[in-house]
Amino acid sequence: MSGFRHLQPTGKAIFKDRYTKKAKELLTTWSPDKKAMYGIVGLPLSKSSISYSGAAFAPGTIREALQGYTTYSGEQTFDLDDEIIDFGDLLVHPTDIVESQQRLYEGLADIFSANDSDNWFLLGGDHSVSFSAIKAFQENFGKVGVIQFDAHHDLRNTEDGGPTNGTPFRRLLEDMAIDGKHLVQIGIRDFANAFEYHTYARDHNVAVYTMEAVQTEGIEVIIRKEMNRLANEVDVIYLSVDMDVLDQAFAPGCPATGPGGMDSGTLLRGVRFAASYPSVRAMDIVEIDPTIDIRNMTSRVAAYVLLEYMKGKKHAAKSVHG
Ligand code: CA
Repeated sequence: MSGFRHLQPTGKAIFKDRYTKKAKELLTTWSPDKKAMYGIVGLPLSKSSISYSGAAFAPGTIREALQGYTTYSGEQTFDLDDEIIDFGDLLVHPTDIVESQQRLYEGLADIFSANDSDNWFLLGGDHSVSFSAIKAFQENFGKVGVIQFDAHHDLRNTEDGGPTNGTPFRRLLEDMAIDGKHLVQIGIRDFANAFEYHTYARDHNVAVYTMEAVQTEGIEVIIRKEMNRLANEVDVIYLSVDMDVLDQAFAPGCPATGPGGMDSGTLLRGVRFAASYPSVRAMDIVEIDPTIDIRNMTSRVAAYVLLEYMKGKKHAAKSVHG
């Protein structure tokens, strides 16, 4: 007997239509000497969250959500076919936040220096992981510009509450890992931030675009303007996607969810457009707590964000970028 009836062997067509490849099948396990267009690393730390967060579970749910999508883009009439090396999740300390952040930094420093991928997807975790990730990234790849999609500035000081998910960009500026004028914050919301952090952003020349600016100027206009400005000033650009930039209707799984935020189509468009620039080489996705999510909606947006990044890169590779 050659097989069991009605049981579809993985990767083989039993129907007349071709086998529909799922995005999760782009993930392949890391092995020495393997090189690929993309690499993915899980950063499962959320004990550093100011509010209760199970974001440490999100690297798993985001990978799993890739199973819900095909690799085919009808808009571009191409399949995403670039491999994503899955490095797995870095091990954090059970209780020690500072030790965990140091491990994320060291682990990513090792992975980046092996240079097995052209682009990096880093799955949080709460937003504190971006401090470790961007620090390791700039040490390996050069002067970095950061496009941060976020409802919040994340510019709290560490003296009052330690190295939480409210502090990553303040720490990066204080450590001089990035320059204030190379940080672009998009989607900052009213009634979600305090005067001190807005003032700190202004005093350090951080480029801040509120939700009002996103709605009136348009996401592509903002990103094009900032990419052109950063082009001659930095070597590489890192996207930091805090899912709470989205309105609560689109991202119910965020600990800091609320109204007045971005719709998911605008975020997807922004990431795709940004990724079409060759200098963009990495993206983190943070602040999804799968334990409070509804039907994995927020992890599904995250998986789609990854696909839109890949679509932006592939589209740019096959056409002349304007
Ligand atoms: Ca944030």
